[in-house]
Amino acid sequence: MSRYRCEWAWLGDDAPAAGVELTVADGIITAVDTAPAGPSADTTVLPGLTLPGLANAHSHAFHRALRGRSERGGGTFWTWRDQMYAVAERLDPDRYYELARATYAEMALAGVTCVGEFHYVHHQRGGRPYQDPNAMGAALIAAAADAGIRVTLLDACYLEGGPGRPLEGPQLRFGDADAAAWAERTEQAAGSATSHTRFGAAIHSVRAVPPKAAALVAAWAQSHRAPLHFHLSEQPAENEASLAAYGATPAQVLGDAGALGPHASAVHATHLEPPDIERLGATRTRVCLCPTTERDLGDGIGPARALAQAGCPLTVGTDSNAMIDLWEEARAVELDERLARRQRSHWRATDLLTAATAEGHASLGWPEAGYLRPGAPADWVTVGLDSPRLAGADRDCLLETVLFAATAADVADVVVAGTPVVRGGQHLRVPDVAAALTRSIAAVTR
Ligand SMILES: [Zn+2]
Repeated sequence: MSRYRCEWAWLGDDAPAAGVELTVADGIITAVDTAPAGPSADTTVLPGLTLPGLANAHSHAFHRALRGRSERGGGTFWTWRDQMYAVAERLDPDRYYELARATYAEMALAGVTCVGEFHYVHHQRGGRPYQDPNAMGAALIAAAADAGIRVTLLDACYLEGGPGRPLEGPQLRFGDADAAAWAERTEQAAGSATSHTRFGAAIHSVRAVPPKAAALVAAWAQSHRAPLHFHLSEQPAENEASLAAYGATPAQVLGDAGALGPHASAVHATHLEPPDIERLGATRTRVCLCPTTERDLGDGIGPARALAQAGCPLTVGTDSNAMIDLWEEARAVELDERLARRQRSHWRATDLLTAATAEGHASLGWPEAGYLRPGAPADWVTVGLDSPRLAGADRDCLLETVLFAATAADVADVVVAGTPVVRGGQHLRVPDVAAALTRSIAAVTR
């Protein structure tokens, strides 16, 4: 059993509580004491504000290698995609492990305790499976374990290079022969869940998965009670392709395929028609917003407020890992809405923090996580309040100060399953995260 004394802790209320003691046994919070006696000698003191660990609900770890490089020479979403394919071509299980471990270590330093890895680089160049057909997924799982964070591997079905078009070039690595082959491979992988790993299904997008195959993936997720994620209407061209091929918007196609519902997450949901918003809301489908990627790629600003009002719980993700900072993702949901509507205050700070914690975890199949309460996994992040960015905060606006002004650099301590992963801003398992990133990125870009 271990004890932690939080200077401040957010227990889900409108303001944080002062002087909270968390007791942990076997990786689980067993007690939350808001009026504890003086700390005993073995109590770890956590100065600053402690919140439940952050859930990064949508990541492609290898995109981290594109940071900065993809900004040279301009281009569009589609030229960015060509650069991304070039990096994908250079991955193998060892390189992917190194790159993902370093990327997940960067996430841990930013307060992320659970990542949803939307995984589609499955096979060897040209498409031949590795001897272990899940070697790449296994590399990602090992990377998360060694970086000290939880992972939900969202194994993506990817069958076409566009409606009715075969996969070609770099895309061959992404594809299984058909949805049944995807299910067979994913079934094998899902058998290896651990205390830090869970599995989910993903439909890459309606660009890459025809409706019948999407229905099979959706049925697999239902029967396994697994999360189901899909990219949805990120670019207008996706809608146009869907309308041309199927006479329906992507949300309609996926709705008809049985892919919507409370276990499902639509990633981006940027370019939606009003009936799409109603459809997602009525089915309580979660929407994962990735504002730093959406602005980086010029996707647009999605109808986040309308989706929330329609009934969609929101989550956030770093997606392309153009930056890794969940505070920035969460506040951008509000700030983008302000720009789009020229009006302030669409969400309370606690709503956005819930998106980055409890809702994100639930979307990844960890509904018990994302809370500081007895019975929850002992996963949390402590933000130091003494940096020039955060200094001077009033006690009654600590949550707002952190949400609107903190950066990943303000994260001081991170605990996952009761075990410290970051202390004083230092990763305890990956001693030099910057060097690990430099090395592993060089290996896939030179
Ligand atoms: Zn994505």
